[in-house]
Amino acid sequence: MRLFTATFAHETNGFSPIPTNLDNFREGLLHRPHRDASKRRETSSVEGVIGARAVARGYDLVEGLHAVATPSAPINDADYAALRDEILSDLEAALPVDAVALFLHGAQASRGCIDCEGDLLSRVRRLVGPTVPIGVELDLHANISAEMIGNATCIIACKEYPHTDFGDRANDLLDVLEACVQRRAQPVTSWRRVPIMGIFHTTREPMRGFIDKVMALERDPRVLSISITHGFPWIDAPLVGAGIIVVTDNDAALADTLSQTLAEELFSLREAIAAPRLEIDSALDQALQPRRGLCVLADTSDNAGGGAASDSTHILRRLLERGVSNAALGMLWDPVAVEFAFAAGLGARIPLRIGGKVGPLSGDPVDVEAHILALNPRARQFAFGVEQTLARTAEIDIGGIDVVLSSLREQTHSPECFTDLGIDLARKRLVVVKSAQHFRTTFEPLAEEIIYATGPGSSSTDFSSFTYHRLQRPIWPLDPNTTLLTGA
Ligand SMILES: [Zn+2]
Repeated sequence: MRLFTATFAHETNGFSPIPTNLDNFREGLLHRPHRDASKRRETSSVEGVIGARAVARGYDLVEGLHAVATPSAPINDADYAALRDEILSDLEAALPVDAVALFLHGAQASRGCIDCEGDLLSRVRRLVGPTVPIGVELDLHANISAEMIGNATCIIACKEYPHTDFGDRANDLLDVLEACVQRRAQPVTSWRRVPIMGIFHTTREPMRGFIDKVMALERDPRVLSISITHGFPWIDAPLVGAGIIVVTDNDAALADTLSQTLAEELFSLREAIAAPRLEIDSALDQALQPRRGLCVLADTSDNAGGGAASDSTHILRRLLERGVSNAALGMLWDPVAVEFAFAAGLGARIPLRIGGKVGPLSGDPVDVEAHILALNPRARQFAFGVEQTLARTAEIDIGGIDVVLSSLREQTHSPECFTDLGIDLARKRLVVVKSAQHFRTTFEPLAEEIIYATGPGSSSTDFSSFTYHRLQRPIWPLDPNTTLLTGA
């Protein structure tokens, strides 16, 4: 089976102060396997996730562009078009192919295009014609459009948050594509939008049980795949919302019944599945309770992985004002402060202005007397087992709080960004991580308790703090009286 694959993933936050162009992809991932065969596979957690499995199955794999950038504001139109057209010309050069499998995010927008995935898929469909199966793997934080559904043969989103199952879902997608190519299956899709916005952890009940139930339903041989998309609420667009995508083997009635039933169930669970949320001081009150082990406090509103700046000082300021010591906080994005720390050198004590630079949601910068405790010229961490390079990081001590400053904007995925600097988390009472949920995979084993804090930030779950003009209303929780029918 001759399979074409490519990756194009950017989670676009319309409220993010970070502009996005080609450089963000160069900093993230811009890999052209056909031109640069020496570069190793899987330099991001999504690149190669489909390709590696296709190779293991013995497919004749043709890889196009892999482009991934850390979440930020809508991409410049010209740069979006350049990357999109590169994938299209890679595909055109690979034709004829038996199938196409793309890894896309599902919430990508450029300044002029609110639905980049729909745009790309409609062009891919025009290129390969009506009969070549097109499979798409998505992040579950996807806002689905009719154009995406109409142009893909099968869309499968990851099921887990943290997203630990990209590999399993890639296998599911290849199973469907292989069955199509061998004429063993004829996928039909039923998609239902669910008018809710929120962050829904699959590590917690009742979402855990709901996902387990969906996976049990997938054991029916007539069902090829069921995806629960959570939506991505930080963009002002009509297509924002959760959704159910059911793909069956040529059984439209079954697909419709399942998508309707599951949409009703997901909607009815909305209050219970919404992530717990505590304002900063309440979260700190809870975090600072006497305890033996480590408390991990997530700064969910300033998550670079959701498009936030990752340089907000709201929690740091309160830690300093409350006189908290024996704590760590990271990663706070401040390339200038990192440069100053490297210039001053290890052991130096310097006046340093940190954070609060990117925009009003970042708060004010904090002026401190910084003791430079460690410098790492080649920092790293692991995102779902895949090593991520972080360029330079510095550890500064501010009155008993070890702050990790980073030169590359990235959410805190794993403890290495602390421990490689010599920070012993087991001896800390509190570590603040700038991440919404992905940190959980690696921090949970270290934690006595995990607390989610929310404050100002472009990934805040207080949706009433954002101004939406184009959002399809009503939608829960902004419109408490929303029903599945009125919001559909
Ligand atoms: Zn996601």
